[in-house]
Amino acid sequence: MYDVIIVGGGLAGLINAILLSRAGLQIALFEKKSYPFHRVCGEYISNEVKPFLVRNGLFPTDINPTEITKFKLTSIKGKQANLSLKMGGFGISRFAFDHFLFQQAQAAGVTILQNHKVTAIEFETDGFQIIANRQSYQSKLVIGAYGKRSALDKRRKFMTKKSPYLGVKYHIKIDLPTEEIALHNFQDGYCGISQVENSTFNLCYLSHRNNLKNKSIDEMETTVLHKNQFLKNIWNNADFVFEKPEVINEISFEKKELIYDHILMCGDTAGMITPLCGNGMAMAIRSAKLLSEMIIQKWDKGRFNRKNLEHSYRIIWDQNFASRLWTGRQIQKLFGSEWSSNAAVHLVKQKWLGSLIVRQTHGTEF
Ligand SMILES: Cc1cc2nc3c(=O)[nH]c(=O)nc-3n(C[C@H](O)[C@H](O)[C@H](O)COP(=O)(O)OP(=O)(O)OC[C@H]3O[C@@H](n4cnc5c(N)ncnc54)[C@H](O)[C@@H]3O)c2cc1C
Repeated sequence: MYDVIIVGGGLAGLINAILLSRAGLQIALFEKKSYPFHRVCGEYISNEVKPFLVRNGLFPTDINPTEITKFKLTSIKGKQANLSLKMGGFGISRFAFDHFLFQQAQAAGVTILQNHKVTAIEFETDGFQIIANRQSYQSKLVIGAYGKRSALDKRRKFMTKKSPYLGVKYHIKIDLPTEEIALHNFQDGYCGISQVENSTFNLCYLSHRNNLKNKSIDEMETTVLHKNQFLKNIWNNADFVFEKPEVINEISFEKKELIYDHILMCGDTAGMITPLCGNGMAMAIRSAKLLSEMIIQKWDKGRFNRKNLEHSYRIIWDQNFASRLWTGRQIQKLFGSEWSSNAAVHLVKQKWLGSLIVRQTHGTEF
């Protein structure tokens, strides 16, 4: 019997595991892959998380993340706007960052079961039964931190809607400004580029699946993405580090239930902000901090009031994220067509408006 079982070992799962284990709870974390591994992500993290990471000894200084202070936006036709980022962020690969946090979780005493895919989570009277690799495990609480979409979600409402987006990621070597994150528009999608560690750049895009109709990824890039001159130049001048890109499908930005069958959802499993906001990782870290602190506060030597815990988590989550997610969904509508991408560049050119949009989709330092 564990106190808490955490399903999924991305940022939300690992931060929950570290904080809860450091507070003395018995934690098991199930991850279907084994560390270190790559995942589709733009790998730019807003600095709002930096004080928290530093305070808890979780900032990966030795990996040398890149400091990012500038933002460039380009339209399909190659118009551009530039903005200084007041808070800024840092670039680090998920390969390195998640592995670093995994090591911190091990050091904190978390039982980590890698290559363990959870296939069922059942709430029974006053606890959970979890099935992974045909074995059964028990816990008092379960945190769902398994990312954007999983077979475990089959009964959740958002799964009834098909999501038309796919995400593609590369690591490349290229000569570009290191302090800048750029977002380049193309028809029905956008592509981000910024530096991570080891002088490597992350090149990552989100596209509507219509762009891929009867095409390979390669063909889609040449015929759709390269209509934006900035993207064509990047592809022509880059050395690609991966043999094949990392690809994911069915990315959903729909509203999700925060708590389902008493499972406390966290990170993308609770709600995903559109990647163009560059804030999903910070939200995963922040929501894990909020949830684990809430559990620690309500935990009394293994006893707690489940109804009260769930109610309090709902309130605090809404206070922190509901409006950010809504703004992200509205901004996503500004991307996709030639007209709207020009309009977005025009908005960001009005510097105060650009800064306002960034503020609305980001939190403050914590
Ligand atoms: C194209 C794209 C670009 C993005 N760019 C950025 C960016 O630049 N900046 C930013 O802040 N955010 C970005 N995001 C968002 C960011 O990647 C996510 O918000 C963040 O990874 C959420 O972390 P998480 O811990 O909730 O989930 P994840 O990081 O997805 O972790 C979930 C984990 O659960 C595991 N898992 C899944 N199912 C099971 C199972 N059944 N059993 C066991 N384990 C399981 C998975 O293997 C995974 O390790 C981007 C997203 C996309 C799609």
